[in-house]
Amino acid sequence: MLHSYSVNRQFLSGAGRCIGKQYWSHRGLSSKNHVMLFDIHVHSDISPCSHLALSDILNHSRRRGLDGVCITDHGTMAVGSRVREGMQADGLCVIVGMEYTTPQGDFLVFGPFEHLPPGLAAQDLLALVDLGAGAAVAAHPFRPGRTVVESVLTSNACRLVEAVNGRNPAAANEQALALVRRRKVVGLGGSDAHSLDELGRMATRLHTPVHCRQDFIAALRQGRCEEHVMPPLPAPMATRASGNTR
Ligand SMILES: [Zn+2]
Ligand SMILES: [Zn+2]
Repeated sequence: MLHSYSVNRQFLSGAGRCIGKQYWSHRGLSSKNHVMLFDIHVHSDISPCSHLALSDILNHSRRRGLDGVCITDHGTMAVGSRVREGMQADGLCVIVGMEYTTPQGDFLVFGPFEHLPPGLAAQDLLALVDLGAGAAVAAHPFRPGRTVVESVLTSNACRLVEAVNGRNPAAANEQALALVRRRKVVGLGGSDAHSLDELGRMATRLHTPVHCRQDFIAALRQGRCEEHVMPPLPAPMATRASGNTR
C-alpha cells in the first residue's frame, strides 16, 4: 500500500536489452536442466566503499566458478555505461542492478531502475519494483546494524531474501536461512564483495539458463533459484578484506 510516495512511471527506464541469445546453441549447452551460479551482490569501485575494479570482476568471476555476476552498486546503475550487459566472450553473464537503501533496510533491485529517486520507503520501493516488473531482494536481512525490518520480511511484500551473504556473521546467515525455510520464501546468495578476495564467496543457483537482465528477473520472480554456499577460496584469495560492512 502506498502512502507518502506516489509511484510514477517516469522513473522506469527501458530494461536492459537481451544480448547473446545464441549463446547456448553456440556452446552446445542444453537449456534443459542446466543451472547457473550467479554472485548476485557485487560492488564495483563506483561504490565509494568498494575497491573492486570492474576489470577484476570481469576477469576473475569465471575463475571463481561463477556463470554470472550482478553488479549492484550503492544507489546507482552507472556501471551499465562501462560494460556491455549480458553474455561476455568467456561465457560470463553480467547483470546490472543496484543496492538501494531504505529506512527499513537494504534491497538489491533489478529492472528498469536507472532513474529511481533516492530515499524511498521500503514499501514504496517494493511497489515501484513491482510496477516495473522487476525483482527486489531483501539484502543481508539480519546483519547487525543493517537489518531489514521484520514487518517487511514477514509480509508478502518481499518474497526474495538474501539467505547467505559473504560479509555477514554466520549467525546472521543462519537467521536468514531459518526465515527462508519458515516463511517458504525464495532464498538467494551473494558475496557483497567490495574487494577481489571477496568475489564469489556466496552465490545463487539458478534453475534455468539466463543470458540477460530480463531472463534473470524472470528466474527470480518465478522462484527458480536458491542460495548456494561456495567452496572456500584457495588460501591466497581467502584473506578477508578489512573495512566497512555497508
Ligand atoms: Zn552490498
Ligand atoms: Zn558498500
